Amino acid sequence: MNKMPLYPLRFDPIYQYRLWGGRRLASLLSAPLPGDGPIGEAWVLSDRTDHQSLVANGPLKGQTLGQMMEQFREPLMGKLSSRFRRFPLLLKFLDAHEMLSVQVHPSDAHPELIPACDTAKTEAWVVIEAGKKSHIYAGLRPGTTAGNLRRSLDDGTIADHLVCIAPKPGDAVFIPAGTVHTLGGDVVVFEVQQNSDLTFRLYDWGHVDPKTKEPRPLQVDQAFACIEFGASNSGLVAARVETTRPVERERLFDCHAFLLWRLLGQDPFTVGTTAEPRVLVCIEGSGQVTHEGTPYAVGKGDVWLLPAEAGECAFQPSGEVILLEIAIP
Ligand SMILES: [Zn+2]
Repeated sequence: MNKMPLYPLRFDPIYQYRLWGGRRLASLLSAPLPGDGPIGEAWVLSDRTDHQSLVANGPLKGQTLGQMMEQFREPLMGKLSSRFRRFPLLLKFLDAHEMLSVQVHPSDAHPELIPACDTAKTEAWVVIEAGKKSHIYAGLRPGTTAGNLRRSLDDGTIADHLVCIAPKPGDAVFIPAGTVHTLGGDVVVFEVQQNSDLTFRLYDWGHVDPKTKEPRPLQVDQAFACIEFGASNSGLVAARVETTRPVERERLFDCHAFLLWRLLGQDPFTVGTTAEPRVLVCIEGSGQVTHEGTPYAVGKGDVWLLPAEAGECAFQPSGEVILLEIAIP
């Protein structure tokens, strides 16, 4: 068994071509964007077989998150180590220049739609950048039925059935599995989700993929099978302020799959906790996190995994900083 002590782990982003993407992630993340085509997603923490995040710092540099989960599960996951073989969250930044497809992800109530290697997918967004053209659609408007929603796919009026949000930076939007949702119009968000890549597309706005010259496939029947037509807690979430000193700590999301706080401050504060892992995402400013006397520089867009055995760590901002801290319940 590996006895090497763990330390705060930084991961390199994995950029993904998406026809609806843009180039705005270049100013948010320090790793350069590849090529000159549209980049829609940066997978910043991923334990997916096809896209494994790589440790970017220290003696474990180059190890995948999956290898870390095999070799260091106990020190990494602490009291959660017996529950998860894969890291249970997938974290991304999205740059939605165009509208994404109108889509839905299955909940645990639909095991017949979820392959054995995957899970349900609840997700949530923190808006980083938005403009006048930006839209988020999250959930169905009252009066929407399977019948009128299906008819709206044919006449292109599906947006009339969706709850529309004009996003602004800092907004928090919760998308439980079963929620019909999409976003676009030059909006950049941070996304936390269950570690699943299962998406059922309902409608794609007539997009044609310039790479294939074809429309992307839809999965309308599977989508309808998992849409929640009843009342839902999807949509904008009010931040709950938990502390104001030495750092303003707001809880944005608290669900069965993840917890997420936003931390705003310029004085030293602590991050992480004993016996469970935490993820830090720096969305504004910079600073350093200190573990066992060693400082680790945290820049804008950086993603750090604090292993369970690292416990509480000191964070020293360089001026005003905004961090997201993510926990697994
Ligand atoms: Zn989604």
